[in-house]
Amino acid sequence: MKIILGKTSGFCYGVKRAVDGATEELKKGTHYCLGEIIHNKNVIKKLEQKGMKFVENVDDAIDKIIIRAHGIPKEVYKRATDLNIKVKDLTCPSVLKIHEMAEKYSRDGYFIILVGAQAHPEVIGTFSFCGNESFVINDIKDVFPCIEKIELSNLKNVLVIAQTTYNSEKFDEIVKSLKENLKDKNLEIKKTICTATEMRQKETAQIAKNVDIMIIIGDKKSSNTNKLCDISKKYCKNVFLVQNKDELKKIRLFEANNVGIMGGASTPEEDIKEIIATLEGIYNKKKEEYVSMLKANMC
Ligand code: SF4
Repeated sequence: MKIILGKTSGFCYGVKRAVDGATEELKKGTHYCLGEIIHNKNVIKKLEQKGMKFVENVDDAIDKIIIRAHGIPKEVYKRATDLNIKVKDLTCPSVLKIHEMAEKYSRDGYFIILVGAQAHPEVIGTFSFCGNESFVINDIKDVFPCIEKIELSNLKNVLVIAQTTYNSEKFDEIVKSLKENLKDKNLEIKKTICTATEMRQKETAQIAKNVDIMIIIGDKKSSNTNKLCDISKKYCKNVFLVQNKDELKKIRLFEANNVGIMGGASTPEEDIKEIIATLEGIYNKKKEEYVSMLKANMC
């Protein structure tokens, strides 16, 4: 069995910066983080063991609070200032740039379309910078309700931006449909999907095309990890999302010649290494069992 591990697997720049930053802050005595710093149970558990408290509301913090990589809504910064709570902002710089862009275009009188998953914390945060004349497109079926809102607004200029981890191909499909249906508007497209995400998605597709089994490692709550599964399913029949080595039991590994592995942006390197070591262990054990079975059957 050959294991093909994606080169872009594991922590992206923004996630690494947030986890390292939170660890440093703990040493300085900051004990509150607004929401989970990243979507990964193991990382959260380790930080909790060191004394970090993950709170859902800025009102629950004392003195200082850490802001996670996904970012937060504009009002929450104001609430922290009102409560005299200091902020250690570990929002990924790429997300902060999108906040600034949305705010500027909204001030300049643009209607803003944000393509992304409405309930995702990053989208909730970014949307708060988009002003009233704005709309979130989750997927292609939301294009027409969005067009209705644009027509009602009477605005001529429209900006289209994306959640940093949105599926690149789906974004292109949505933009195509918007262009076809908004010919009388000035459409500005800023594909704000981050480079790290695009590279990972491309590599995932490439690997999935060439393997019998594709294993995506990451937390089930992680948006970018789930997207890697969706992409893999287009090219490979056997795709599994695993959070830890125990979940490898559900996969019939021995039947595969090639196994592809890709870790999500919030999956630590040690989780990926542990799963690869377990995979190799399972395979070798099965191989030994198979060889001894053959020997036993020899006359
Ligand atoms: S995926 Fe991109 S935008 Fe999101 S945290 Fe990572 S580097 Fe930043």
